[in-house]
Amino acid sequence: MLRIDNINVYYGAIHALKNVSLEVEAGAIVTLIGANGAGKTTTLKTISGILRPRSGSVIFENRDITKLPPQAIVGLGICQVPEGRRIFPSMSVLENLEMGAYLRKDKQGIKTDMEMVFSRFPRLEERKKQIAGTLSGGEQQMLAIGRALMARPRLMLLDEPSMGLAPLLVREIFDIIKDINSQGTTILLVEQNAHMALSIADKAYVLETGEIVLEGAARDLMESEEVKKAYLGG
Ligand code: ATP
Repeated sequence: MLRIDNINVYYGAIHALKNVSLEVEAGAIVTLIGANGAGKTTTLKTISGILRPRSGSVIFENRDITKLPPQAIVGLGICQVPEGRRIFPSMSVLENLEMGAYLRKDKQGIKTDMEMVFSRFPRLEERKKQIAGTLSGGEQQMLAIGRALMARPRLMLLDEPSMGLAPLLVREIFDIIKDINSQGTTILLVEQNAHMALSIADKAYVLETGEIVLEGAARDLMESEEVKKAYLGG
């Protein structure tokens, strides 16, 4: 479904991604794990068109999307859930969800999806008039995911959904991600919480200072001594 071929991304003189290649098959959960500053967010931003690689390409369903603007990429069915739950803090929960559907014109479909989001996240329905910036951290993460669902994505890019959440909530969010996947959305999940990410993913890549150093089936990486030592706390 998605293929990244040998991309190189720079921030000025900083070489943030070095010949990164990866593949996401339709229907899968693929995770990209790595420490702070490894280049995980940079990879997602390059897929969603926010950053341009200096070389290499991003192919989505056999189409080269490397040079497309972000809104065109959203229009093709790729939607990013940004790190740090970047919701619109001064808008209500309902307005945030409506923003997720801003490219769509199918009123009935939007209504159905809004109901689907509310049934998945009853807490958001109870709080639909609340100003989003006053939601708890976990609720904001749910809203960020809900907003992305409103775009009806075929590929969802998730940037560290576990960040700053209590363990119980992390589990809940990961269960939700699994469930969204089982309903047909392909997932590319970026995480520092390697244990949780590997436990739900089919395939995994390990990124270190801008380079892919390991890749394989998630369950194999979970057993790898290298991964255990560096990312799973021994
Ligand atoms: P984290 O888990 O801490 O979010 P990450 O793996 O997502 O890390 P990136 O945010 O992709 O890492 O950053 C990769 C590298 O690029 C880092 O060294 C970072 O300092 C650098 N970088 C990121 N954004 C910029 C920027 N706008 N200008 C300059 N350097 C940047």
